[in-house]
Amino acid sequence: RARVGVLALQGDVREHTSVLSELDVEVTSVRTVGDLSAVDGLVLPGGESSVIDKLSRMFGVADPIRQAIDSGLPVFGTCAGLIMLAERLVDGIAGQQTFGGLDVTVQRNAFGSQTDSFETDLDIPELGAPPVHAVFIRGPVVTQTGPHVRVLSEIDNRRIVAVEERNIIATSFHPEVTGERRFHERFIERVRSQAS
Ligand code: GLN
Repeated sequence: RARVGVLALQGDVREHTSVLSELDVEVTSVRTVGDLSAVDGLVLPGGESSVIDKLSRMFGVADPIRQAIDSGLPVFGTCAGLIMLAERLVDGIAGQQTFGGLDVTVQRNAFGSQTDSFETDLDIPELGAPPVHAVFIRGPVVTQTGPHVRVLSEIDNRRIVAVEERNIIATSFHPEVTGERRFHERFIERVRSQAS
């Protein structure tokens, strides 16, 4: 079975673990370089990106994760996980770093205090019917995309909220909290095709 890791430094690790454990993969927590080297794919959970950034550097996994993503490790990031994957970050805290890998600019907390958290249904052709019920919690938005980034979903006026590029899938919202499995399944398909 494919081994999927969830970066378990901070955030909604348990929610991702519970979706993944229903999908016929072996799920492990990743906190160290050793943990990372044992997985065929990595999930970056939602949470607080500035904390995940600091802890990942403290634990010495930031650079190894960056290298693993560069060498093609399949990765799925939600919310703070999307922020961690962005090559360019707007409205980060002072000195905040990301792993990068995804050729996008991401704006943190992009929906403002009036609409801090909200839910909406998104039609995502790649995932088929029914629409994805999306929960946003102080979510980021992708404000700019490089030429190889595929936009899976945008709301309002070009507020991009789901993208993929090479080995990376990322969403501004939290499929892991609504029982939505299709993003995880799409991610796992990539994990399996690379692991075999
Ligand atoms: N606002 C958070 C951040 O900047 C992301 C919120 C989330 O992951 N739900 O990291």
